[in-house]
Amino acid sequence: MSASQDRASSQGFSTRAIHVGSEPDPATGAVIPPIYATSTYAQDGVGGLRTGLGVGYEYSRSGNPTRTALESALAAVESAGGEPTRAMAFASGLAAEDAVIRTLTRPGDHVVLPGDAYGGTYRLFAKVAEPWGVQFDTAPTDDLDAVARAVVPGRTRFVWVETPTNPLLGISDIAAVAAVAHDAGALLVVDNTFATPYLQNPLELGADVVVHSTTKYVGGHSDVVGGALVVRAPGAAGAATDPHTGEPLADRLAWHQNAMGAVAGPFDAFLTLRGLKTLAVRMDRHSDNAAAVAAFLDEHPAVSQVLYPGLPDHPGHEVAAAQMRRFGGMVSFRLRRGRYAALKTCASTSVFTLAESLGGIESLIEHPGDMTHGSVAGTALEVPDDLVRLSVGLEDEADLLADLDRALAAASA
Ligand code: PLP
Repeated sequence: MSASQDRASSQGFSTRAIHVGSEPDPATGAVIPPIYATSTYAQDGVGGLRTGLGVGYEYSRSGNPTRTALESALAAVESAGGEPTRAMAFASGLAAEDAVIRTLTRPGDHVVLPGDAYGGTYRLFAKVAEPWGVQFDTAPTDDLDAVARAVVPGRTRFVWVETPTNPLLGISDIAAVAAVAHDAGALLVVDNTFATPYLQNPLELGADVVVHSTTKYVGGHSDVVGGALVVRAPGAAGAATDPHTGEPLADRLAWHQNAMGAVAGPFDAFLTLRGLKTLAVRMDRHSDNAAAVAAFLDEHPAVSQVLYPGLPDHPGHEVAAAQMRRFGGMVSFRLRRGRYAALKTCASTSVFTLAESLGGIESLIEHPGDMTHGSVAGTALEVPDDLVRLSVGLEDEADLLADLDRALAAASA
Protein backbone atom coordinates (compact mmCIF):
# COMPACT_ATOMS: atom_id res chain seq x y z
CA MET A 1 0.00 0.00 0.00
CA SER A 2 1.41 3.42 -0.95
CA ALA A 3 1.88 6.03 1.81
CA SER A 4 -0.96 8.18 0.42
CA GLN A 5 -3.36 5.21 0.16
CA ASP A 6 -2.41 4.20 3.69
CA ARG A 7 -3.11 7.70 5.04
CA ALA A 8 -6.33 7.92 3.05
CA SER A 9 -7.64 4.58 4.30
CA SER A 10 -7.96 6.04 7.80
CA GLN A 11 -9.86 9.12 6.62
CA GLY A 12 -13.61 9.57 6.33
CA PHE A 13 -15.54 8.89 3.12
CA SER A 14 -15.92 12.48 1.94
CA THR A 15 -12.33 13.40 2.76
CA ARG A 16 -11.18 10.53 0.56
CA ALA A 17 -13.69 11.34 -2.19
CA ILE A 18 -12.60 14.99 -2.28
CA HIS A 19 -8.84 14.66 -1.90
CA VAL A 20 -7.53 11.33 -3.19
CA GLY A 21 -6.36 11.79 -6.77
CA SER A 22 -6.95 15.54 -6.56
CA GLU A 23 -3.64 16.77 -5.24
CA PRO A 24 -2.95 20.32 -6.54
CA ASP A 25 -1.41 20.26 -10.01
CA PRO A 26 2.39 20.37 -9.55
CA ALA A 27 2.95 22.75 -12.47
CA THR A 28 0.23 25.36 -11.78
CA GLY A 29 -1.24 24.67 -8.35
CA ALA A 30 -4.71 24.13 -9.84
CA VAL A 31 -6.69 22.58 -6.99
CA ILE A 32 -8.87 20.53 -9.34
CA PRO A 33 -7.20 18.10 -11.76
CA PRO A 34 -7.36 19.59 -15.25
CA ILE A 35 -9.07 17.92 -18.21
CA TYR A 36 -6.02 16.52 -19.99
CA ALA A 37 -7.50 16.64 -23.48
CA THR A 38 -4.61 14.91 -25.18
CA SER A 39 -4.25 11.62 -26.98
CA THR A 40 -0.46 11.36 -26.65
CA TYR A 41 2.52 12.58 -24.59
CA ALA A 42 5.94 13.86 -25.60
CA GLN A 43 8.82 11.55 -24.63
CA ASP A 44 12.31 12.69 -23.66
CA GLY A 45 14.10 10.15 -25.82
CA VAL A 46 12.55 6.80 -26.75
CA GLY A 47 10.77 5.45 -23.65
CA GLY A 48 11.62 8.59 -21.66
CA LEU A 49 8.17 9.25 -20.17
CA ARG A 50 7.75 12.40 -18.11
CA THR A 51 6.86 11.54 -14.52
CA GLY A 52 5.90 14.95 -13.14
CA LEU A 53 2.59 13.53 -11.92
CA GLY A 54 4.20 10.48 -10.35
CA VAL A 55 3.66 8.07 -13.24
CA GLY A 56 4.57 8.34 -16.91
CA TYR A 57 2.00 8.53 -19.71
CA GLU A 58 2.44 7.45 -23.33
CA TYR A 59 -1.03 7.20 -24.92
CA SER A 60 -4.47 8.10 -23.52
CA ARG A 61 -6.16 4.74 -24.09
CA SER A 62 -3.50 3.25 -21.81
CA GLY A 63 -3.58 6.10 -19.31
CA ASN A 64 -4.65 9.72 -18.98
CA PRO A 65 -4.06 11.89 -15.88
CA THR A 66 -7.72 12.97 -15.57
CA ARG A 67 -8.78 9.33 -15.70
CA THR A 68 -6.06 8.44 -13.19
CA ALA A 69 -7.47 11.07 -10.81
CA LEU A 70 -10.93 9.48 -11.07
CA GLU A 71 -9.60 5.93 -10.75
CA SER A 72 -7.56 6.87 -7.65
CA ALA A 73 -10.61 8.41 -5.99
CA LEU A 74 -12.85 5.45 -6.85
CA ALA A 75 -10.25 3.05 -5.45
CA ALA A 76 -10.10 5.11 -2.26
CA VAL A 77 -13.85 5.16 -1.64
CA GLU A 78 -14.73 1.57 -2.60
CA SER A 79 -13.15 0.18 0.54
CA ALA A 80 -11.87 -3.36 1.03
CA GLY A 81 -11.52 -3.02 4.80
CA GLY A 82 -8.12 -1.34 4.75
CA GLU A 83 -6.65 -3.50 1.97
CA PRO A 84 -5.47 -1.56 -1.12
CA THR A 85 -7.83 -1.55 -4.08
CA ARG A 86 -7.51 -0.72 -7.76
CA ALA A 87 -10.20 0.95 -9.87
CA MET A 88 -10.60 1.18 -13.64
CA ALA A 89 -12.88 3.70 -15.35
CA PHE A 90 -14.75 2.73 -18.51
CA ALA A 91 -16.88 4.42 -21.16
CA SER A 92 -20.08 2.98 -19.64
CA GLY A 93 -21.29 0.55 -17.00
CA LEU A 94 -21.86 -2.07 -19.68
CA ALA A 95 -18.32 -1.62 -21.00
CA ALA A 96 -17.07 -2.34 -17.46
CA GLU A 97 -19.31 -5.43 -17.29
CA ASP A 98 -18.04 -6.60 -20.68
CA ALA A 99 -14.46 -6.40 -19.40
CA VAL A 100 -15.41 -8.68 -16.48
CA ILE A 101 -16.94 -11.26 -18.83
CA ARG A 102 -14.03 -11.25 -21.26
CA THR A 103 -11.43 -11.41 -18.51
CA LEU A 104 -12.98 -14.19 -16.45
CA THR A 105 -14.63 -16.46 -19.00
CA ARG A 106 -13.71 -18.67 -21.94
CA PRO A 107 -16.03 -20.71 -24.16
CA GLY A 108 -17.51 -23.55 -22.10
CA ASP A 109 -17.40 -21.59 -18.83
CA HIS A 110 -20.52 -20.96 -16.81
CA VAL A 111 -21.81 -18.04 -14.74
CA VAL A 112 -24.76 -17.54 -12.40
CA LEU A 113 -26.89 -14.44 -12.94
CA PRO A 114 -29.52 -13.02 -10.59
CA GLY A 115 -33.21 -13.53 -11.29
CA ASP A 116 -33.62 -9.75 -11.13
CA ALA A 117 -31.10 -7.30 -12.58
CA TYR A 118 -30.70 -4.39 -14.94
CA GLY A 119 -32.09 -5.52 -18.30
CA GLY A 120 -28.96 -4.47 -20.18
CA THR A 121 -26.83 -6.71 -17.98
CA TYR A 122 -29.02 -9.68 -18.80
CA ARG A 123 -28.95 -8.78 -22.52
CA LEU A 124 -25.14 -8.62 -22.46
CA PHE A 125 -24.95 -12.18 -21.14
CA ALA A 126 -27.83 -13.63 -23.18
CA LYS A 127 -27.22 -11.92 -26.51
CA VAL A 128 -23.46 -11.26 -26.52
CA ALA A 129 -21.64 -13.65 -24.16
CA GLU A 130 -23.77 -16.74 -24.67
CA PRO A 131 -23.39 -16.87 -28.46
CA TRP A 132 -19.62 -16.88 -27.82
CA GLY A 133 -19.99 -20.02 -25.69
CA VAL A 134 -20.38 -18.65 -22.15
CA GLN A 135 -23.30 -20.45 -20.53
CA PHE A 136 -25.40 -19.01 -17.73
CA ASP A 137 -28.19 -19.90 -15.37
CA THR A 138 -30.30 -17.50 -13.39
CA ALA A 139 -31.02 -17.94 -9.69
CA PRO A 140 -32.67 -15.71 -7.11
CA THR A 141 -29.56 -14.51 -5.30
CA ASP A 142 -31.55 -13.85 -2.11
CA ASP A 143 -32.01 -17.65 -1.88
CA LEU A 144 -28.69 -19.25 -0.92
CA ASP A 145 -29.87 -22.80 -1.64
CA ALA A 146 -30.88 -21.74 -5.14
CA VAL A 147 -27.45 -20.18 -5.72
CA ALA A 148 -25.74 -23.34 -4.40
CA ARG A 149 -27.82 -25.46 -6.80
CA ALA A 150 -26.99 -23.18 -9.75
CA VAL A 151 -23.18 -23.14 -9.40
CA VAL A 152 -21.22 -25.82 -11.24
CA PRO A 153 -17.96 -26.44 -9.33
CA GLY A 154 -15.00 -26.19 -11.68
CA ARG A 155 -17.00 -24.49 -14.42
CA THR A 156 -18.80 -21.54 -12.80
CA ARG A 157 -16.38 -18.62 -12.95
CA PHE A 158 -18.51 -16.13 -11.07
CA VAL A 159 -21.83 -15.42 -9.43
CA TRP A 160 -23.29 -12.01 -10.31
CA VAL A 161 -25.24 -10.12 -7.67
CA GLU A 162 -27.01 -6.81 -7.96
CA THR A 163 -28.19 -5.43 -4.59
CA PRO A 164 -30.46 -3.53 -4.36
CA THR A 165 -31.73 -4.75 -7.73
CA ASN A 166 -32.99 -2.71 -10.63
CA PRO A 167 -36.00 -2.34 -10.71
CA LEU A 168 -37.49 -4.60 -7.99
CA LEU A 169 -35.23 -3.39 -5.15
CA GLY A 170 -34.43 -6.96 -4.09
CA ILE A 171 -31.68 -7.44 -1.52
CA SER A 172 -29.06 -10.20 -1.45
CA ASP A 173 -26.78 -11.02 1.47
CA ILE A 174 -23.37 -10.27 -0.07
CA ALA A 175 -21.28 -12.08 2.57
CA ALA A 176 -23.46 -15.19 2.41
CA VAL A 177 -23.47 -15.37 -1.42
CA ALA A 178 -19.69 -14.80 -1.42
CA ALA A 179 -19.29 -17.87 0.80
CA VAL A 180 -21.43 -20.02 -1.53
CA ALA A 181 -19.55 -18.80 -4.62
CA HIS A 182 -16.13 -19.30 -3.05
CA ASP A 183 -17.03 -22.80 -1.85
CA ALA A 184 -17.64 -23.71 -5.49
CA GLY A 185 -14.37 -22.10 -6.62
CA ALA A 186 -16.23 -19.18 -8.22
CA LEU A 187 -15.78 -15.44 -7.69
CA LEU A 188 -18.46 -12.98 -6.61
CA VAL A 189 -19.14 -9.91 -8.75
CA VAL A 190 -21.42 -7.25 -7.22
CA ASP A 191 -23.11 -4.48 -9.18
CA ASN A 192 -23.07 -1.71 -6.57
CA THR A 193 -24.70 0.94 -8.77
CA PHE A 194 -27.84 1.50 -6.68
CA ALA A 195 -26.05 1.55 -3.33
CA THR A 196 -22.86 3.42 -4.35
CA PRO A 197 -19.59 3.13 -2.39
CA TYR A 198 -21.04 5.49 0.23
CA LEU A 199 -23.88 3.19 1.24
CA GLN A 200 -22.31 -0.24 0.74
CA ASN A 201 -18.83 -1.73 0.27
CA PRO A 202 -19.11 -5.23 -1.24
CA LEU A 203 -15.34 -5.89 -1.14
CA GLU A 204 -15.46 -5.57 2.65
CA LEU A 205 -18.20 -8.22 2.65
CA GLY A 206 -16.22 -10.74 0.60
CA ALA A 207 -16.99 -9.78 -3.02
CA ASP A 208 -14.14 -10.03 -5.52
CA VAL A 209 -15.21 -7.47 -8.13
CA VAL A 210 -17.40 -4.38 -7.76
CA VAL A 211 -19.12 -2.96 -10.83
CA HIS A 212 -20.56 0.54 -11.10
CA SER A 213 -22.54 2.34 -13.70
CA THR A 214 -21.03 5.71 -12.73
CA THR A 215 -23.63 7.21 -15.07
CA LYS A 216 -25.93 7.03 -12.06
CA TYR A 217 -25.24 8.27 -8.51
CA VAL A 218 -21.45 8.57 -8.77
CA GLY A 219 -21.71 11.06 -11.65
CA GLY A 220 -24.93 12.20 -10.05
CA HIS A 221 -26.03 14.96 -12.42
CA SER A 222 -27.37 13.12 -15.49
CA ASP A 223 -24.67 14.66 -17.65
CA VAL A 224 -22.21 11.83 -18.28
CA VAL A 225 -22.15 8.11 -19.09
CA GLY A 226 -19.46 5.95 -17.45
CA GLY A 227 -18.62 2.75 -15.65
CA ALA A 228 -16.05 1.41 -13.21
CA LEU A 229 -14.59 -1.77 -11.78
CA VAL A 230 -12.95 -1.97 -8.37
CA VAL A 231 -10.99 -4.97 -7.09
CA ARG A 232 -8.40 -5.68 -4.41
CA ALA A 233 -4.94 -4.64 -5.63
CA PRO A 234 -2.36 -7.33 -6.44
CA GLY A 235 -0.77 -8.54 -3.21
CA ALA A 236 -3.67 -7.41 -1.00
CA ALA A 237 -5.06 -10.02 1.37
CA GLY A 238 -7.82 -11.91 -0.44
CA ALA A 239 -6.94 -10.48 -3.86
CA ALA A 240 -8.49 -12.65 -6.59
CA THR A 241 -6.59 -14.21 -9.45
CA ASP A 242 -7.61 -14.88 -13.03
CA PRO A 243 -8.96 -18.46 -13.03
CA HIS A 244 -7.40 -19.12 -16.45
CA THR A 245 -3.93 -17.58 -16.10
CA GLY A 246 -3.40 -17.41 -12.34
CA GLU A 247 -2.31 -13.76 -12.64
CA PRO A 248 -3.65 -11.06 -10.28
CA LEU A 249 -7.20 -10.21 -11.35
CA ALA A 250 -6.53 -6.46 -11.08
CA ASP A 251 -3.70 -6.75 -13.63
CA ARG A 252 -5.80 -8.85 -16.00
CA LEU A 253 -8.74 -6.43 -15.86
CA ALA A 254 -6.43 -3.48 -16.45
CA TRP A 255 -4.89 -5.33 -19.38
CA HIS A 256 -8.32 -5.91 -20.91
CA GLN A 257 -9.33 -2.29 -20.27
CA ASN A 258 -6.42 -1.19 -22.47
CA ALA A 259 -6.65 -4.05 -24.98
CA MET A 260 -10.37 -3.54 -25.61
CA GLY A 261 -10.17 0.23 -25.26
CA ALA A 262 -13.60 1.18 -23.88
CA VAL A 263 -12.01 3.71 -21.52
CA ALA A 264 -13.49 6.82 -19.95
CA GLY A 265 -12.40 9.90 -21.88
CA PRO A 266 -10.90 12.86 -20.00
CA PHE A 267 -14.01 15.06 -20.17
CA ASP A 268 -16.18 12.22 -18.87
CA ALA A 269 -13.64 11.36 -16.17
CA PHE A 270 -13.62 15.01 -15.06
CA LEU A 271 -17.42 15.18 -14.71
CA THR A 272 -17.57 11.83 -12.94
CA LEU A 273 -14.88 12.86 -10.46
CA ARG A 274 -16.68 16.15 -9.81
CA GLY A 275 -19.81 14.16 -9.00
CA LEU A 276 -17.99 11.68 -6.76
CA LYS A 277 -16.76 14.49 -4.50
CA THR A 278 -20.34 15.26 -3.34
CA LEU A 279 -21.63 11.68 -3.32
CA ALA A 280 -22.07 11.40 0.45
CA VAL A 281 -24.18 14.52 0.91
CA ARG A 282 -26.29 13.66 -2.11
CA MET A 283 -26.89 10.05 -0.99
CA ASP A 284 -28.00 11.21 2.44
CA ARG A 285 -30.55 13.57 0.87
CA HIS A 286 -31.63 10.95 -1.71
CA SER A 287 -32.18 8.51 1.16
CA ASP A 288 -34.18 11.04 3.20
CA ASN A 289 -36.44 11.92 0.28
CA ALA A 290 -36.89 8.29 -0.82
CA ALA A 291 -37.86 7.24 2.71
CA ALA A 292 -40.54 9.96 2.75
CA VAL A 293 -41.80 8.95 -0.71
CA ALA A 294 -41.92 5.25 0.26
CA ALA A 295 -43.87 6.01 3.44
CA PHE A 296 -46.31 8.20 1.47
CA LEU A 297 -46.89 5.55 -1.23
CA ASP A 298 -47.25 2.83 1.39
CA GLU A 299 -50.35 4.62 2.72
CA HIS A 300 -51.82 5.45 -0.70
CA PRO A 301 -55.01 3.54 -1.68
CA ALA A 302 -54.05 3.36 -5.40
CA VAL A 303 -50.80 1.54 -4.59
CA SER A 304 -50.82 -2.22 -4.02
CA GLN A 305 -47.15 -2.65 -3.06
CA VAL A 306 -44.13 -0.45 -2.35
CA LEU A 307 -40.69 -1.92 -2.99
CA TYR A 308 -38.15 -0.10 -0.82
CA PRO A 309 -35.62 -1.87 1.42
CA GLY A 310 -36.04 0.79 4.09
CA LEU A 311 -39.61 -0.34 4.81
CA PRO A 312 -39.65 -2.76 7.77
CA ASP A 313 -41.87 -5.25 5.90
CA HIS A 314 -39.50 -5.49 2.91
CA PRO A 315 -38.20 -9.09 2.85
CA GLY A 316 -34.59 -7.87 2.62
CA HIS A 317 -34.91 -5.12 5.22
CA GLU A 318 -32.73 -6.72 7.89
CA VAL A 319 -29.98 -7.73 5.47
CA ALA A 320 -30.04 -4.26 3.91
CA ALA A 321 -29.88 -2.61 7.33
CA ALA A 322 -26.83 -4.73 8.17
CA GLN A 323 -24.87 -4.22 4.94
CA MET A 324 -25.96 -0.71 3.89
CA ARG A 325 -25.43 2.62 5.63
CA ARG A 326 -28.78 3.96 4.37
CA PHE A 327 -31.39 2.56 1.97
CA GLY A 328 -30.76 4.81 -1.03
CA GLY A 329 -32.87 6.83 -3.43
CA MET A 330 -34.67 4.24 -5.57
CA VAL A 331 -38.31 3.34 -4.91
CA SER A 332 -40.57 1.10 -7.03
CA PHE A 333 -44.28 0.55 -6.57
CA ARG A 334 -47.18 -1.35 -8.12
CA LEU A 335 -50.60 0.03 -9.00
CA ARG A 336 -53.80 -1.70 -7.90
CA ARG A 337 -55.42 -0.87 -11.23
CA GLY A 338 -52.66 -2.44 -13.29
CA ARG A 339 -50.69 -1.46 -16.37
CA TYR A 340 -52.94 1.38 -17.50
CA ALA A 341 -52.72 3.09 -14.10
CA ALA A 342 -48.92 2.64 -14.10
CA LEU A 343 -48.58 4.25 -17.54
CA LYS A 344 -50.98 7.04 -16.59
CA THR A 345 -49.03 7.76 -13.39
CA CYS A 346 -45.80 8.00 -15.37
CA ALA A 347 -47.46 10.43 -17.81
CA SER A 348 -49.00 12.63 -15.10
CA THR A 349 -46.10 13.94 -12.99
CA SER A 350 -44.46 17.30 -13.49
CA VAL A 351 -41.67 17.42 -10.89
CA PHE A 352 -40.70 13.81 -11.66
CA THR A 353 -39.53 13.73 -15.28
CA LEU A 354 -40.54 10.72 -17.39
CA ALA A 355 -37.16 9.35 -18.45
CA GLU A 356 -34.83 6.35 -18.27
CA SER A 357 -31.68 6.28 -16.12
CA LEU A 358 -31.45 7.21 -12.46
CA GLY A 359 -29.25 8.63 -9.74
CA GLY A 360 -29.23 12.28 -10.78
CA ILE A 361 -30.16 15.30 -8.72
CA GLU A 362 -33.56 15.51 -10.46
CA SER A 363 -36.38 13.05 -9.77
CA LEU A 364 -37.26 10.64 -12.59
CA ILE A 365 -40.19 8.30 -13.13
CA GLU A 366 -40.45 5.40 -15.57
CA HIS A 367 -42.33 2.25 -16.54
CA PRO A 368 -39.65 -0.50 -16.47
CA GLY A 369 -41.72 -3.02 -18.45
CA ASP A 370 -41.87 -0.71 -21.50
CA MET A 371 -38.66 1.25 -20.94
CA THR A 372 -35.46 0.16 -19.12
CA HIS A 373 -36.44 -3.51 -18.92
CA GLY A 374 -38.14 -3.93 -22.30
CA SER A 375 -35.20 -6.11 -23.40
CA VAL A 376 -36.04 -8.79 -20.78
CA ALA A 377 -39.70 -9.25 -21.77
CA GLY A 378 -40.41 -12.97 -22.08
CA THR A 379 -37.30 -13.98 -20.05
CA ALA A 380 -36.82 -15.03 -16.43
CA LEU A 381 -36.22 -11.35 -15.66
CA GLU A 382 -39.51 -9.99 -16.99
CA VAL A 383 -40.96 -7.35 -14.66
CA PRO A 384 -44.65 -6.81 -13.76
CA ASP A 385 -46.51 -4.43 -16.07
CA ASP A 386 -48.12 -2.56 -13.15
CA LEU A 387 -44.67 -1.49 -11.89
CA VAL A 388 -43.44 2.11 -11.71
CA ARG A 389 -39.84 2.99 -10.78
CA LEU A 390 -38.81 6.27 -9.18
CA SER A 391 -35.35 7.76 -8.93
CA VAL A 392 -36.02 10.14 -6.07
CA GLY A 393 -33.96 13.29 -6.50
CA LEU A 394 -32.88 16.14 -4.27
CA GLU A 395 -35.87 18.46 -4.68
CA ASP A 396 -37.96 19.54 -1.69
CA GLU A 397 -39.84 16.63 -0.14
CA ALA A 398 -43.22 18.42 -0.07
CA ASP A 399 -43.06 19.09 -3.82
CA LEU A 400 -42.23 15.45 -4.57
CA LEU A 401 -45.12 14.14 -2.47
CA ALA A 402 -47.60 16.65 -3.93
CA ASP A 403 -46.54 15.70 -7.46
CA LEU A 404 -47.05 11.98 -6.82
CA ASP A 405 -50.37 12.64 -5.10
CA ARG A 406 -51.63 14.55 -8.17
CA ALA A 407 -50.38 11.88 -10.59
CA LEU A 408 -51.95 9.02 -8.60
CA ALA A 409 -55.24 10.93 -8.50
CA ALA A 410 -55.09 11.36 -12.30
CA ALA A 411 -54.35 7.65 -12.73
CA SER A 412 -57.27 6.70 -10.49
CA ALA A 413 -59.83 8.97 -12.25
N1 PLP B 1 -26.02 -1.68 -13.73
C1 PLP B 1 -27.16 -1.11 -13.34
C2 PLP B 1 -27.76 -1.48 -12.02
C3 PLP B 1 -27.80 -0.17 -14.15
O1 PLP B 1 -28.95 0.39 -13.74
C4 PLP B 1 -27.23 0.16 -15.41
C5 PLP B 1 -27.88 1.14 -16.31
O2 PLP B 1 -29.00 1.52 -16.09
C6 PLP B 1 -26.04 -0.47 -15.78
C7 PLP B 1 -25.45 -1.37 -14.92
C8 PLP B 1 -25.39 -0.18 -17.12
O3 PLP B 1 -24.72 1.05 -17.06
P1 PLP B 1 -24.52 2.03 -18.29
O4 PLP B 1 -25.88 2.48 -18.73
O5 PLP B 1 -23.66 3.11 -17.73
O6 PLP B 1 -23.83 1.24 -19.35
